[in-house]
Amino acid sequence: MKLSLVVPCYNEEDVISRFDARVRSVLDRLAVDYELCYVDDGSADGTLPRLRDLAQRHPATTRYLSFSRNFGKEPAILAGLREATGDAVIIMDADLQHPPELIEKMLDLYHLGHDQVVARRSRDGDPRLRTALSRLYYRAVNTWVDVELADGVGDFRLLSRTAVDALVSLPEYNRFSKGLFSWIGFDTVTFDYRNAAREAGQTKWRLRTLVNYGIDGMISFNCRPLRAAIYTGLSLASLATLYTLWVIGSAAVGGITAPGYVTLVAIIAGLGGLQMVMLGLIGEYIGRIYYEAKRRPHFLVKEAVRPVRDAVRTAK
Ligand code: UDP
Ligand code: MG
Repeated sequence: MKLSLVVPCYNEEDVISRFDARVRSVLDRLAVDYELCYVDDGSADGTLPRLRDLAQRHPATTRYLSFSRNFGKEPAILAGLREATGDAVIIMDADLQHPPELIEKMLDLYHLGHDQVVARRSRDGDPRLRTALSRLYYRAVNTWVDVELADGVGDFRLLSRTAVDALVSLPEYNRFSKGLFSWIGFDTVTFDYRNAAREAGQTKWRLRTLVNYGIDGMISFNCRPLRAAIYTGLSLASLATLYTLWVIGSAAVGGITAPGYVTLVAIIAGLGGLQMVMLGLIGEYIGRIYYEAKRRPHFLVKEAVRPVRDAVRTAK
């Protein structure tokens, strides 16, 4: 069998060579046929020259794509999956947070017949607040979303050829991998590993990207939030009716007085805010339709290098 590793890289010049060496030492020991598919996601540093260098040093087992600009990790993963030719594919971060030593275990599980072998990172060592917020988020999401999203489960996983083909066949522009992995299904097995710290360079995640990611997770997979908006509207309208009846009733009994300025302001402001949120929600869906309707490609490639033996194969 042949194993492909898909590695998205964005400004990873500090760590990419170390990553390559570590992974190769593991793979050589395992004695599998393998290839490394690097996807340079429009890095602004020396990542691309390093990839060129790696491809020159290991021409038979290295392929890379370089994007014309930074398109994001999701398009990078998609590009890598399209590019990979292996019978099984492992998606790994370039920063060595995904221990290469786990490849062996993943392969063992793959040979037992699983189509997705998922490494779930335990959260010990993470900031407490982030852990707590994640827990809360996943609990909320799983009551909302049709597909199951699990805490600590990310892109670090092995996919069989069947699973890769399924993922690549999904044409959507907005790709939320976590949901897609779960959506395609197939025989899935999960094991835990201890999270390692980033070896060098720095994380590209900011609080804002995390919040955006969170919203994506909620919205990418169904229309249930819209249904929730309808229910909220209905309950508020019923409350408003009851309140109106009560006001009319008390005016009929006690005559008209005109207090309630604060109540009025509070209700107008509150409802105004709520309407904005719901408009924003509808806007999110429409925005997604807009992006899908444009049918733009997920990424643009400015440079691609593929193993020499492939060139021979296509020339035949
Ligand atoms: N990455 C990417 N494009 C981006 C951001 C990140 O390809 O726009 C890659 C990055 O090079 C790394 C992986 O995605 O290999 C995970 O990124 P990072 O380590 O910053 O995320 P974290 O591990 O902190 O969640
Ligand atoms: Mg990382």
